[in-house]
Amino acid sequence: MKLMLMDVIEYTTSDGPGFRTSIYSSGCSHQCKNCQNPQTWNLAAGNPVEVDDLLKMVMNFEFADVTFSGGDPFFQVEAFTELAQKIKANSSKNIWCYTGYTFEQIVANKHLSMMLPHIDVLVDGRFIEELKDPDLLFRGSSNQRLIDVQASIKKGETVLLDYNPFNLKTQAKHASSALQFQHV
Ligand code: SF4
Repeated sequence: MKLMLMDVIEYTTSDGPGFRTSIYSSGCSHQCKNCQNPQTWNLAAGNPVEVDDLLKMVMNFEFADVTFSGGDPFFQVEAFTELAQKIKANSSKNIWCYTGYTFEQIVANKHLSMMLPHIDVLVDGRFIEELKDPDLLFRGSSNQRLIDVQASIKKGETVLLDYNPFNLKTQAKHASSALQFQHV
């Protein structure tokens, strides 16, 4: 399967904790006001790359974890799910994924939620200019959340990642209703 990619950045420290390989996909339909990467909205703006070739690249960066960004990786959910599955089968790298969808929108969608069993942290929600906060870690606006995906699947509710650079731990959010996961 092929992915349409804008760029791959090696050993970056800005899209999650530690050194990471950041994969920037093309394709996004959220049209957030003052998006920093509007050139990524068009799927055809990217270059086609085989998932297995990208996997080799990711594995070559031995000490880097992985971030899916864009664009919105959920715009190419089948290919990113295949990539995430293969990364997990071949390494212990953690995977963060940025998206303009909310976690609850993804959970409720059978097609989009196929990627959830294979990623560790979801940075969710559209960028909202009025909620922009430069002090936020790994996010642009305060509506966006760092979600511990596997803890959320296990508990059946949204669990936020309480990020501490010296100790990765999680904190349960008081969810009003249980989530129905479809791919677990
Ligand atoms: S989801 Fe991200 S890439 Fe898409 S419009 Fe919003 S800020 Fe831009």
